[in-house]
Amino acid sequence: MTKLPNWNLNRKEAGYRPVHERITDYTEVEQTLNRDDRVLQASRCMDCGVPFCHWACPLGNRMPEWQALLAKGDWHAAYALLATTHNFPEFTARLCPALCEKSCVMNLHGQPVTTRENEAAVTEYAFAEGYVKPAPPTTRTGKRVAVVGSGPAGLALADMLNRKGHYVTVFEKDEHPGGLLRFGIPDFKLGKDLIDRRLNILLQEGVVFENNTEVGRDLDPAALLHDYDAVCLAVGAGQPRDLPVEGRSLKGVHFALELLQQQNRVISRDAVNRVSTSTNELISAKGKNVLVIGGGDTGSDCVGTAVRHKAAVVTQIEIMPEPPEHYNPATPWPNYPLVKKTSSSHLEGCTRRWNLSTRRFIGENGHLTGVEVVAVEWEKDATGRLIMKETGLPEIIPAGLALLSMGFVHPVHEGLLDRLGVAYDARGNVTADATFQTSVPKLFVAGDAHYGAGLVVRAIASGRQAAAAIDRFLA
Ligand SMILES: Cc1cc2nc3c(=O)[nH]c(=O)nc-3n(C[C@H](O)[C@H](O)[C@H](O)COP(=O)(O)OP(=O)(O)OC[C@H]3O[C@@H](n4cnc5c(N)ncnc54)[C@H](O)[C@@H]3O)c2cc1C
Ligand code: SF4
Repeated sequence: MTKLPNWNLNRKEAGYRPVHERITDYTEVEQTLNRDDRVLQASRCMDCGVPFCHWACPLGNRMPEWQALLAKGDWHAAYALLATTHNFPEFTARLCPALCEKSCVMNLHGQPVTTRENEAAVTEYAFAEGYVKPAPPTTRTGKRVAVVGSGPAGLALADMLNRKGHYVTVFEKDEHPGGLLRFGIPDFKLGKDLIDRRLNILLQEGVVFENNTEVGRDLDPAALLHDYDAVCLAVGAGQPRDLPVEGRSLKGVHFALELLQQQNRVISRDAVNRVSTSTNELISAKGKNVLVIGGGDTGSDCVGTAVRHKAAVVTQIEIMPEPPEHYNPATPWPNYPLVKKTSSSHLEGCTRRWNLSTRRFIGENGHLTGVEVVAVEWEKDATGRLIMKETGLPEIIPAGLALLSMGFVHPVHEGLLDRLGVAYDARGNVTADATFQTSVPKLFVAGDAHYGAGLVVRAIASGRQAAAAIDRFLA
């Protein structure tokens, strides 16, 4: 049995599979440590008097407590405690930027506890040992709740409300549930079998899924409000930011999600003819110069996908300046550090450039051949607002495929939301009061649709909070 805390140990990460191997397939790039190492890593947690990790995690996970159990070798109890605050640790364990680790006291020396990887180990052990079992509610309240959208927010809502004994139906426009977990995030970050494994449990617990059902098109939202005791929108922030410059309509210019969703469907061998691109053609990066416009996570996922397509050259550009490498005085510990992030995809072969603004797409015979960019710099005006100034001469980056990865502005308004006549804030997100209730009676909202594009962990936390509010409303 390990003693606590184990200060003489260094942080040890499992790391990624070798680049030459992982770029030939789409399976998860991250490896796992053996169980003994995992127990030792958990023993590094100091059980701080003020655990900043609690404060940083939107779910309020109790990392010192469950890691103390893990350090003692009690894997079962560690999972049981983790599951009290978290519905789907198997997703965040792979996808979370580990807000907890950034605020870990050990991070003051750059050696935070490997909480995210420990979360993965504890959860996988729990599934392997068979103690993640369906636990249907013993009594039903008779109340009916409709959840629109089956991303992490919708799934957390459904799980929590079902546990309370309400009848829950999840309506999803795609052919399978999961939202961006399934159709967006690449398989090399999250294997889709993990979503199915969790869905099987929710199904056995009594949650009903109506897939291929777009509320607002296939189903009248007014009828939904009439037929159910409460309806919750968890429709995500699906409106991508566009770049309406000259040449935008050339063949070869796509939104990032057009490529990423297509790739998810190709891998799952789902009907590829469901692939929705502006041209209805399969997008391929093979042999092409690929330009990813936007320096964030979605852009990085495009880089990894283009590399696996065997692109000739992959370049990712960002309009903002290059962030500092390890420490940013503007975001000191225990805040989330705004520093340069290098993902597993970046390590697979790509050129990254900053301070470049896109002026126009250039083409021949209707096909993209290059993108004109110009160097910019940023200055603060008298009010502290950042103002962009063009500095350099324009430059043409050769490109046969350009992927727009500049974020998402708000949920899609046309269709469901406009038909409901629901109110938006200035950024276009659905507004709600402190009980998650929107301007429409009986209608609630959770996840990215409420606060804009965010993180999986925030969506799950929002779904849990909205479910608690809906449960109080129904009572
Ligand atoms: C490419 C990409 C990579 C990302 N990588 C990460 C990451 O590594 N880590 C991380 O923490 N976050 C990541 N994110 C962000 C994360 O995926 C989102 O914040 C999260 O999925 C939001 O959850 P949600 O449930 O609110 O919405 P979504 O996951 O967007 O789900 C919304 C669901 O609603 C459905 N829907 C919409 N309208 C209707 C309708 N009218 N009727 C029926 N169904 C409807 C949609 O089809 C979708 O299934 C990434 C996002 C993208 C785009
Ligand atoms: S969900 Fe994210 S922030 Fe919360 S404990 Fe897990 S890795 Fe840390």
